[in-house]
Amino acid sequence: MRAVGSQGETRDIARALLAHVTYQRLLGAVGAPAASAPAPAATAVTPRAAERPAPSAPRAAAAAPVDAVADAARETLDGVRADLGDCQRCKLAGGRTNLVFGVGDPHARLVFVGEGPGADEDAKGEPFVGRAGQLLTEIITKGMKLQRHDVYICNVVKCRPPGNRNPEPDEVAACEPFLMRQLGAIGPQVIVALGKFAAQTLLRSKTPITQLRGRWFDYQGIMLMPTFHPAYLLRNPGEKRLVWEDIQKVMRVLGLPIAGK
Ligand code: URA
Repeated sequence: MRAVGSQGETRDIARALLAHVTYQRLLGAVGAPAASAPAPAATAVTPRAAERPAPSAPRAAAAAPVDAVADAARETLDGVRADLGDCQRCKLAGGRTNLVFGVGDPHARLVFVGEGPGADEDAKGEPFVGRAGQLLTEIITKGMKLQRHDVYICNVVKCRPPGNRNPEPDEVAACEPFLMRQLGAIGPQVIVALGKFAAQTLLRSKTPITQLRGRWFDYQGIMLMPTFHPAYLLRNPGEKRLVWEDIQKVMRVLGLPIAGK
């Protein structure tokens, strides 16, 4: 009879428990203040209240015992990545060169979520490095005056769909728990959903992106701003103005300076 498990077993159990708690927290089952239901309703949040500039040190100012407990229970991005391993949970695994987990600040206040890796991202193992990625990088660096490493960038699915088709429901179902755990580990203030697919998936909505963009939504207690996908902007450069408007709303919430305002 074995009295106690090995250290390795104990670590595995602890990791599994932590992953479970994080996932449940994002689903609203444990402790989190603003999480409400497993499927986030696509209900817009009042813009005026939403865009009140953030206090300069929001995390420190809000620190309360309950947050300390939540922080302690927060798993790390490395833990999520380790759990994902050499993922074979859906049929996209067979066609990938690299799994594209995400890049950036593990404690970023701002996370960009796209649809899924394209050919360049699959080859490099990094999200948004192709032409659309270059435009996203310009939005971050020239528009927001931040660096890519100041934010976090990831996708709804982590492996390239063949021919850049939309991810299918079973693929999203396999991958989304890991995205939710990434978001739980990072704990951002704002998520920007890039394009129709990311916005409709995260918000469980069929509303066209033209109606979703530019409005604030609540995603499990995190403010979410849908906007057009950079690839769409490459085809429709005239719409860049609208994305800049959306990004300025995000900058206001994050308390980032907007040139000329
Ligand atoms: N488009 C996406 O949605 N994600 C990427 O990583 C690249 C292009």
